[in-house]
Amino acid sequence: MGGVHPIVVQSMTNTDTADVTATVNQVLALANAGSELVRVTVNTDEAARAVPKIVDTVRMFGSRVPIIGDFHYNGHLLLKKYPDCAKALSKYRINPGNVNIGKKHDDNFRTMIECAIEYGKPVRIGVNWGSLDGQLLTRMMDENNSRAEPLDAQTVTMKAIVASALLSAEAAVGYGLPPGRIILSAKVSNVQDLVTVYRDLAAQCSYPLHVGLTEAGLGSKGIVATTAGLAILLQEGIGDTIRASLTPLPNGDRTEEVVVCQQVLQSLGIRSFTPQVTACPGCGRTTSTFFQDMADQIQTYLRTQMPVWKEQYPGVEELKVAVMGCVVNGPGESKHSHIGISLPGTFEEPVAPVYVDGKLRTTLRGDHIVPEFIRILDAYVAGRYSIQLTTA
Ligand code: SF4
Repeated sequence: MGGVHPIVVQSMTNTDTADVTATVNQVLALANAGSELVRVTVNTDEAARAVPKIVDTVRMFGSRVPIIGDFHYNGHLLLKKYPDCAKALSKYRINPGNVNIGKKHDDNFRTMIECAIEYGKPVRIGVNWGSLDGQLLTRMMDENNSRAEPLDAQTVTMKAIVASALLSAEAAVGYGLPPGRIILSAKVSNVQDLVTVYRDLAAQCSYPLHVGLTEAGLGSKGIVATTAGLAILLQEGIGDTIRASLTPLPNGDRTEEVVVCQQVLQSLGIRSFTPQVTACPGCGRTTSTFFQDMADQIQTYLRTQMPVWKEQYPGVEELKVAVMGCVVNGPGESKHSHIGISLPGTFEEPVAPVYVDGKLRTTLRGDHIVPEFIRILDAYVAGRYSIQLTTA
């Protein structure tokens, strides 16, 4: 991770880690959706005992996704007491704001770093402004107050977040952890603060950075705020791994956070994960919902095919498909895609021209336009992306 390596999408479970079955199912769902790292809470003895079983079961199902342990308050105790947990995890996330609460020393932090050294694990030092090291903040506020021209409290808080990450990394290196096994994050819940903090962090260190808005929120607010923050930073080359900390609706789909991260990276042209559907917004020329249904069916079809397609058809994630509501922009947009269809708008002749590689391939009509288009799509994918076997 970091340097020239691709930016990695990660996610976190929200199951009780002590519930092995529920956690394994969610880890697999997140991994199948494309999460390249999955973090689980390790907060109790039961959770720590469950971790090796979770990792073993996930491997039994054929997934190699690295599983990261998220520790707060008692991580030093759990990692020492449950060496099988410490060994099974691929990385430890340490929150420097709550490893030594009420202590005058950093023995707890040091214990966790020593476990990471003993078991050869990387560590993410993950600062969160909701649990910022209170002693550090107080000290920096006091220092600020003694300046001739004090900064405002918000600015000092942002600087304390960055300082907490950097000082903790320095301490970890001092305890013997190789710098190449450290990742930093400094999460806040406001987009402008996020940009300020990460620009500052990136300017002051060369550690790989895990970027994301913490507590991004529900629905469109969470998605848009996350996208806004990530887009600015990624465009500036800041960020090596990302997460969208969305709040799912009750019984909602946890994998949405993976899809959002993938879509951010793909929309910015940084990485490709799944074929993209270009669809027009629709207007008064498309009075039926057929067009929206078709765009949705094609998008869903492409996403569900990807676990198989990505093995069979390397490069298929670059495919561009257009599903347009009428012939005003439909043929033009279709010609700019690998394959595209324009549905008949209101009062237009009930035909749907299909373009392949910029040329009119056929014109569909009748009640089976969607399955016929999917057949053309399948044939195109198989023809364009099949692995070419060579013989000696
Ligand atoms: S392509 Fe046609 S249906 Fe879609 S927005 Fe443009 S005019 Fe409206």
